[in-house]
Amino acid sequence: MAETLIKVDLKQSAFDNDMVHNRWHPDIPMVATVSPGDDFIIETYDWTGGFIKNNDDASDVRDIDLSIVHFLSGPIHVKGAEPGDLLVVEILDIGAKVESQWGFNGFFSKQNGGGFLTDHFPQAQNSIWDFEGMFTKSRHIPDVRFAGLIHPGLIGCLPDPKLLDTWNKREVDFIATNPDRVPPLANAPFAPTAHMGRLKGEARDKAAGEGARTVPPREHGGNADIKDLSRGSKVYFPVYVPGAGLSMGDLHFSQGDGEITFCGAIEMAGWLHLKVGLIKDGMNKYGVKNPIFKPSPMTPNYKDHLIFQGISVDESGGQHYLDVGVAYRQACLNAIEYLKKFGYSGAQAYSILGTAPVQGHISGVVDIPNASATLWLPTEIFAFDINPGADGPIKHLDGSIDMPLAPDL
Ligand code: ZN
Repeated sequence: MAETLIKVDLKQSAFDNDMVHNRWHPDIPMVATVSPGDDFIIETYDWTGGFIKNNDDASDVRDIDLSIVHFLSGPIHVKGAEPGDLLVVEILDIGAKVESQWGFNGFFSKQNGGGFLTDHFPQAQNSIWDFEGMFTKSRHIPDVRFAGLIHPGLIGCLPDPKLLDTWNKREVDFIATNPDRVPPLANAPFAPTAHMGRLKGEARDKAAGEGARTVPPREHGGNADIKDLSRGSKVYFPVYVPGAGLSMGDLHFSQGDGEITFCGAIEMAGWLHLKVGLIKDGMNKYGVKNPIFKPSPMTPNYKDHLIFQGISVDESGGQHYLDVGVAYRQACLNAIEYLKKFGYSGAQAYSILGTAPVQGHISGVVDIPNASATLWLPTEIFAFDINPGADGPIKHLDGSIDMPLAPDL
């Protein structure tokens, strides 16, 4: 039996667990030590540390203080790891905590975090997803059920002081270009809600004021939200500090490409069974700046898709030059309009795109002026036929069930 090196008690506040942290900083003390070739188990909180509850009320999602996220388990010291190496992390297995067989998906209020389609869905809303072994379904979104492709949304190694400075400078400078924007352009370090693991005293307070927020993916990986990083996959992480300092969290039962709802995929507490290895001087040997990945040999077997295209012409007809973000947003909006014809609310459709194993593709970036992005919706996850036909869409749902909606702040 592999040893469980980090345990989390879902009844205990994540702030009281000193094997957990919510900022990136090189001074956060290692909480466990492993050797290359070892396999071991790490438990994690959900990304909010249990703030979002299994209920039919979206006020948790509306009221959350987003400066508390993400609660990560670690850092783990890997013997022999030195700056410039690649840390090989194999995900042998991954799952939900036995006592917590559910997850959540939601959209943040535009005033508090927003999301990819926040201008269309400005209010907080959520859906709860129950797990049935490898499958999931939601009492808030009828007639859709799919197999999970469980993965860590967030995993990576500690930055060194130079890399941390680079992150903080570029993000703080970026915020300064439009400091009043809602939602903000980025999140600057914020000491009051920092959880620095086992760091204590003055050193803790100093690091809390410098620790990088965990929201964006960066050169070390971090919040990469790659839905295919599931059981059987491998990641090659750049190492910046002696011992690597591997941390992880933000497990997802399933997620669509883009994690467009931001809160986010199907978020859950869980565990990972990992095996680590090292490639000495691997960053140089392979020219690696950002992590590289090998997907799982096992994925849900959804072969049939309905593909929605979007081009870089925005909702008000504005032309954008090869902008794949604008194009993917249009593909998502087109899919939502389509699903509404079968009786789903816009929110339900948005949530399906954020949670189900939807694929996003950049289909064209050269045909000026329009980028082309496509969203591949698996048709087999629905309990009814969603394909277009001569008879038109048969309205399948009566609208009596919808996702909880919180009044705006
Ligand atoms: Zn997440």
